[in-house]
Amino acid sequence: MRKALYPGSFDPITKGHLDIIVRSHAIVDHLTVAVLENPRKQSAFTVGERLEMLKRCTEKYPGIEVDYFSGLLIEYVKRKGISIVIKGLRAISDFEFEFQMALVNRKLNPDVETLFMMTNSKYSYLSSSIVKEIADFGGDISSLVPPEVHDLIVRKFPRD
Ligand code: ADP
Repeated sequence: MRKALYPGSFDPITKGHLDIIVRSHAIVDHLTVAVLENPRKQSAFTVGERLEMLKRCTEKYPGIEVDYFSGLLIEYVKRKGISIVIKGLRAISDFEFEFQMALVNRKLNPDVETLFMMTNSKYSYLSSSIVKEIADFGGDISSLVPPEVHDLIVRKFPRD
């Protein structure tokens, strides 16, 4: 059974993330989408809110599990019996960091493969930070985030 992990901050989930989730789900038997809880990174949404958003967007796909973890990714995949880690790539800027992470993870555990999935060109410009910035200024984010989570995100950035 091919079990894969798609890790990220998902602060919040965007249509770019969901595109990678759906395409990964099509090529593996079981996909875990996990929120990486990083105390050093400031986030707009709590882990609970990010899990709730991921659940809403993935509940119609059988074989997708939503979870969270903190600490070393390689320890988490070992615990879960996962051997594939999926990363999305938008641009060269993503590549440099992800390349280093993939090599470090291979060093720590050679049995785990990192697979890179190219962004859908429709979403190559899209990031969680862009969504937060637009929402904070009261802009329309409906083309950037899945409809299931739109209102939840908008409510986080109240306009007075
Ligand atoms: P962000 O950079 O948006 O804060 P995350 O840490 O939540 O992203 O990203 C999790 C993973 O999803 C990373 O591998 C990242 O490269 C990938 N990703 C994020 N946005 C996109 C997108 N628009 N297209 C493809 N991959 C993406």
